[in-house]
Amino acid sequence: MKDDSIRHPEAAAAFLADREQARWHDSAIWWVRQKRDAQASQLPEWEALRELARTIKAHTLSRLDDYLRQFEEKAAANGVTVHWAADAEEHNRIVHGILAARQVKKLVKSKSMLTEECGLNPYLEQRGIEVIDTDLGERIVQLRHEPPSHIVMPAIHLKKEQISELFHQELGTEAGNNDPTYLTHAARANLREHFLTADAGLTGVNFGIAETGGVVVCTNEGNADLGTSLPPIHIASMGLEKLIPKLEHLGVFTRLLARSAIGSPVTTYTSHFHQARPGGEMHIVIVDNGRSEILGSDDFFQSLRCIRCGACMNTCPVYRRSSGFSYSYIIPGPIGSTLGPSRDIRKHASMAFACSTCGSCSNVCPVKINLHEQLVLHRKRAWDAGAVPTGKKMGLMAMRFLTRHPALFDLSGKVMRKVVPILPEGLTRQSAWSRAGRDLPEMPEQSFKEMYRRREEKN
Ligand code: SF4
Repeated sequence: MKDDSIRHPEAAAAFLADREQARWHDSAIWWVRQKRDAQASQLPEWEALRELARTIKAHTLSRLDDYLRQFEEKAAANGVTVHWAADAEEHNRIVHGILAARQVKKLVKSKSMLTEECGLNPYLEQRGIEVIDTDLGERIVQLRHEPPSHIVMPAIHLKKEQISELFHQELGTEAGNNDPTYLTHAARANLREHFLTADAGLTGVNFGIAETGGVVVCTNEGNADLGTSLPPIHIASMGLEKLIPKLEHLGVFTRLLARSAIGSPVTTYTSHFHQARPGGEMHIVIVDNGRSEILGSDDFFQSLRCIRCGACMNTCPVYRRSSGFSYSYIIPGPIGSTLGPSRDIRKHASMAFACSTCGSCSNVCPVKINLHEQLVLHRKRAWDAGAVPTGKKMGLMAMRFLTRHPALFDLSGKVMRKVVPILPEGLTRQSAWSRAGRDLPEMPEQSFKEMYRRREEKN
């Protein structure tokens, strides 16, 4: 579970204290962003696809009650049991009820941010059910007893040496063997045992299709398929915003999803589930947990279009340099920084400020969510809720005063341009700006306003 008392500035500073790790994290994630760009540029219709995806999701959300009813009817007609959960507690109670009634002792689970959001693992473990995360990255963070640091690449914060040490301790692999193939084979052998001995499998849902009542799960490891075809019980946990109207709409999203997420043309497995395997049973738990409230918000309802590709994290200069562990909500990065504060502005206020407002997240988002604009609106909510720390508040008040008094603003610029160059070097090196590894830029002789005026005069 995520510690929601985390404050972004302090947690980011702690992460940045290890310079080498911070640099490596930044470049590893930027590499994924570049792969995304390469894939996107190969599709001339990329922008048209994004617009189409935005429109389909916006339409679905505008008639969500109708589509949810249609989905429930179709799924029930397929022989699937549909459950409704108003919140995380009810979701966990329903899942536990299904498992307990069938004496399930072990559950294999494929990646699901929704179950992280609901805190399902500790809930079931406290009630005597063993939960095994089967996505490799999820399994790694589960063995380390930590939450995922990224929604698509949960263990992206770790180096292979750290994974080798973990596997040596937990799975008995050879000490010091960092070979990724060796380590992957060891994890696979271990997971296979769990697949064969589990009594039930749980998956998340990437897309629910109202027209058919089926759910679609996208993975790169095939773990959702093993987890649902070996044990007799399949439970799919689905946030109520995951619906799309028709099967013919799915291709728009699958083309965008893998390219945006990891820079691949497709996910290796796009699995469709319509009914239980022969002799088994299938349940779908549809979860609200605050989504209806977000849907009712004029400012934030667009965040429900999210398909959890993670592209906004990979491009975000703040996420790349501060890691997923610096955010108080279970989903980090730009989308988490709007979802967290939407749920509880006081708890997650610092996330709204973990943003340079560069807008890169909105530019890459495959469903065109106005993420950076939402973060600015959350800042206002944080201010109104009295959730802005005193130091930041004073800085903002000073800035407001200056921007409301242009003559004073110009004068302070002039003073800074004169004073900063003559400050002793030791002093400037101690500033937060310099400590973060940046060079202090040379002060220009003129302000932008002056340069602009001169240029206009010349023309
Ligand atoms: S907000 Fe957009 S870019 Fe970020 S995870 Fe969701 S769909 Fe992907």
